[in-house]
Amino acid sequence: MDKAIFFDNAATTRTDPEVLESMKEWQGDNFGSPATLYAFGSQAKQAIEQARQQLADLIGADQKDIFFTSGATESNNWAIKGVAEALAEKGRHIITDQAEHHSILMPCRYLEKKGWEITYLPVDAYGLVNPSDVEQAIREDTVLVSIVHANHEIGTIQPIEEIASITREKGVYLHVNAAQSVGHIPVDVTALSCDLLSLSGHKFYGPKGVGALYIRRGVRIDPLLHGGGQEKKRRAGTHNVPGIVGLGKAAVMARKNLDAEIERLSALRDHIIEQLEKNMDDIRLNGHRTHRLPNNVNISIEGIEGESIMLSLSYPTAENARPVFISTGSACVSGTLEPSHILLALGLPAELAHGSVRFSLSRHDTREDADYALKALFEVADRLRSMSPVYKRGAKQCATGKSGEGCDCEAAS
Ligand SMILES: *Cc1c(COP(=O)(O)O)cnc(C)c1O
Repeated sequence: MDKAIFFDNAATTRTDPEVLESMKEWQGDNFGSPATLYAFGSQAKQAIEQARQQLADLIGADQKDIFFTSGATESNNWAIKGVAEALAEKGRHIITDQAEHHSILMPCRYLEKKGWEITYLPVDAYGLVNPSDVEQAIREDTVLVSIVHANHEIGTIQPIEEIASITREKGVYLHVNAAQSVGHIPVDVTALSCDLLSLSGHKFYGPKGVGALYIRRGVRIDPLLHGGGQEKKRRAGTHNVPGIVGLGKAAVMARKNLDAEIERLSALRDHIIEQLEKNMDDIRLNGHRTHRLPNNVNISIEGIEGESIMLSLSYPTAENARPVFISTGSACVSGTLEPSHILLALGLPAELAHGSVRFSLSRHDTREDADYALKALFEVADRLRSMSPVYKRGAKQCATGKSGEGCDCEAAS
């Protein structure tokens, strides 16, 4: 197999070799637990504290405010449930929006079942939350606002500073899910003025299964995990020492190259968008054109299923020897024809929501990779469209079908 092109870096990234190298020692001979008092364990403790400082430096935080977790899912659950429970006496109302990641929406649903009230704000056609909607939604009993920094599917970057100035004034905590932004664009907790911030190692070339929650000093939050006294008694469980060391290393590396990478990837992103718009009819860019992650391209291709494109590109063929891995916001395999809640929140008509594909780029990708993937995409899209029962011929039928009636996955794959 020729070298694959991995354009699914919003899902996960390749752990950087230097990060892997930094973890080795802590996977092998130096296996002591940081919780023990003899010298063997205290080396691990020192390594963890160094990583805490490295991560704090990346996001402009005080190292005392960094708490290691198993990733952004845990951090998000902790932020939402932990604040909800700590402030249950004050009020039981939380504000978020309809285009959030499931690791935000699901804890909110869970709390709803337990008697909390959640406001899910709408987003505009670009996926942006309107700060004045946040202002209007805040009530006496609101305890938390949780808004993503950058959307994982469409790359839209939210106006967090504006939202923060509102939550500050109203005395409501602001949590920011920064899983997609940390290591990719500047993230500074002081500039963002947030109270809590989630991040994840494997989204920026660090290891999987490790992340952190930033908790500004003085913020009231209950633990999610109870047990031992780790992380100042706020997050129990033996530390993932290799993972934490790797996360620290990833933070150091991200800081070093951030500005150059933003410039390089933004240019590559814009090149891809330009080529798509030049070479294909009936497509639509999803998300904001400029308030957008440097590594995200998301388009809808009318008349074909995103999933058919994704699968077709993933198999090498005679003409396209390199498999191309992308993702889609529309998944037939899951047994439902419902496109992603994020695309629906943008107000996309069904036929466009079904045809979405996402390219998410990494520090390893070159213009040559992008051009190869584009050429493969053009070919696949042409072929699928020529077989599509809905493109041009049946487009009307498809648009009326709420659950994608007329958008026959089988026929297009
Ligand atoms: C990946 C991701 C998560 C989940 O992070 P894990 O560390 O894999 O649990 C949450 N939110 C967003 C926006 C993400 O992109």
